[in-house]
Parts: sequence; C-alpha cells; structure tokens
Amino acid sequence: MQYTKIFGIDKEVSRVALGTWAIGGWMWGGTDEDLSVRTIHAALDKGINVIDTAPVYGFGRSEKIVGKALKEYGGREGIVLATKAGLEWNEDKIRRNSSRERIRKEIEDSLQRLKTDYLDLYQIHWPDSRVPFEDTAGELEKLKAEGKIRAAGVSNFSPEQMEVFLKGGELVSNQPPYNLFERSIEEDVLPYCQKKGIALFTYGALCRGLLSGGMKRDRRFEGDDLRRIDPKFQEPRFESYLKAVEHLDEYAREAFGKRILHLAVRWILDQGIDVALWGARQPEQIDPLPAIMDFCLSDDDKKKVDWILQEWITDPVGPEFMAPPL
Ligand code: NAP
Repeated sequence: MQYTKIFGIDKEVSRVALGTWAIGGWMWGGTDEDLSVRTIHAALDKGINVIDTAPVYGFGRSEKIVGKALKEYGGREGIVLATKAGLEWNEDKIRRNSSRERIRKEIEDSLQRLKTDYLDLYQIHWPDSRVPFEDTAGELEKLKAEGKIRAAGVSNFSPEQMEVFLKGGELVSNQPPYNLFERSIEEDVLPYCQKKGIALFTYGALCRGLLSGGMKRDRRFEGDDLRRIDPKFQEPRFESYLKAVEHLDEYAREAFGKRILHLAVRWILDQGIDVALWGARQPEQIDPLPAIMDFCLSDDDKKKVDWILQEWITDPVGPEFMAPPL
C-alpha cells in the first residue's frame, strides 16, 4: 500500500480508501451485515486505513456497520475515519441541509453510530446554497475546537463554492467523482485543489462497478440499485462503455500484465489524486489491491488510454443523476 501525508490529518493516509455507500444497502439493492464487516476487515488487513462513510448511506446503517467493524478490529488510533453531514432524509427522500442545527444533530448521531469520540475528517456532503458556505465552515471550526473532529472537508463543491467556504475556516479536502469515464473535475476542481493544497479524495473509482472487469451484459440489478436508472447502464450506451472496458482491459494486459480494474485505480492515483475511494461490499472484491501498487502510468500510457476512450465512448454521460435536490 502507498501512503501519503495530507495537511491537517495527523496520520499517514492510504492512497486507496474503502467507500462504504454500498455497505449501507440503500440504492445498492440491500446489504449483508456479516459480509460487510468482513469486507471492512479485509480492507484493513490489506493496509487501507481510510474508511469513508456517511449518515445517509442506508440512513445510519453504513455508519453502524463501520462502527461495529472498527470496534471488533481495534486500532482506532491508526484509522482515518471520514464521514459527512448536510443531507437530511424523510422516509427515503433526501435533501440538502447544512444548517447549524442539522450539523449539530448529525455529528452526535455519527459519533454514536461509529462508536468513537472523534472523527478524523468531517465532510459537507453536497453544497447547500441556502446556508452561507462560510457559516458552515465556521461551524466545523467550532467542532474542531471542541475536539469532535480533527479536519474539515467538503464534497461535490465547485472552486467558487470552496473559495467562499475558505473565508469561514480551514478546508483540508474535497470529495468529487473521478474515474476513467467521469473526468469533468479536470477542467476546474482538480487544478484549483492542486493550486490551493486541498487534498482530493475522489469517489467512484470503478464507476459503480463498470470498470471492475466483472460487469456482464446480462447483469440484473435488484430492488433500489441505482444502476437501474444510471444512464451509463442503459442501452445503447451500456454497450459502448462495456466495449471501452474490453479494449482498456486488453491494453492493461499487453502493456503491464494487469487487468482493467488495476489500470482504472492506478490511473486515478497517477493523475495526482491523493486518495481514490473504492466501493466494495465483499471481502474478495479487495483482493486486486496489491497489484495496483507495483506499476505506474507514463504520459504516453495515459495518451493511449485517452485514445481508447475517445474511440469507444461516443456518447459520454456524467454522474449528475446522483445529485440530491436542494
Ligand atoms: P465504485 O468503486 O465506483 O463501485 C463500487 C462497486 O463496484 C461495488 O459496490 C461493487 O458492486 C463493484 N466492485 C467493487 N470491487 C469489485 C471487484 N473487485 N470486482 C467486481 N466488482 C467490484 O464505488 P462507489 O461506491 O460508487 O464509490 C466509492 C465510494 O465513494 C462510496 O462507497 C462512497 O464512500 C463514496 N461516494 C461519495 C459520493 C459523494 O457524493 N460524496 C458519491 C458516491 C460515492 P457490486 O457489489 O454490486 O458488484
């Protein structure tokens, strides 16, 4: 595993994090608690020390499972525990709310569910334009002073929104989507964060499984699985994304003796991203991790990857469908 130092986080940070949205079950067709706990333990065994969760993932379920798994595993002081605030729910309808009252409620609930008395990284999940961003930043500064959080971050924020946030307090990280198929941050967020020294924890490393190499044309998604409505998983686009995966896999094999999953995660790290968030909910899904750490992509390799993407993805679409309403 490769580790990095991030300004504001007082521990070495693994460059791959375990994302636990699917472990919460909601929008992923359900969850299995025992399998989830074993997945978290498998990630820690392999050297991952960043666990990312959120209250909204399964409406508390993901945080509870993470809390249980970490308690059983031990070694909390070596773990970078990251959760979020700023989404509220009613039944299964969610909306943004970064008000002081909401944050105060969420922090207490998260600490309890995660069975800890501090969080290493506390992120505002989605920008809520009804609350001045600098006020939200100020509230997180107070949580820091109270010892409840060690560092403040945001997620899905634009450079303009981060600029305002910074007027109210320190900003350690931003968490936007980023993978071979979803690259819009290259235009603005990525250069802005690099210039300002704001760490990037990017999500969707495998583009919801598309880049795993295990996605089959006849895969059926159960229940509330978001891939039933994800535009990338609808024909005729689905076919073109799968074709791109086949060609990227062929390239990974020929150039590095690797597979598409290794290439997809390595590419993110070699774009200068600090931490790539990989979602998994079965212990074996983490098995490919070590083979991501022993190679890297040159500028020439990246150009070849771009050619393949340009040739096969003729009608690209982003992850905007996931944005929750105000
Ligand atoms: P992802 O890494 O793009 O995809 C995860 C899915 O890929 C898994 O649930 C699994 O799906 C499949 N997968 C993983 N490893 C595999 C393997 N070895 N072989 C075959 N399939 C594999 O993850 P994501 O969950 O969308 O994003 C990662 C994390 O980022 C989330 O868990 C969450 O922590 C964070 N996130 C944050 C935001 C935000 O707004 N801040 C938004 C999205 C995600 P199956 O088990 O169904 O096959």
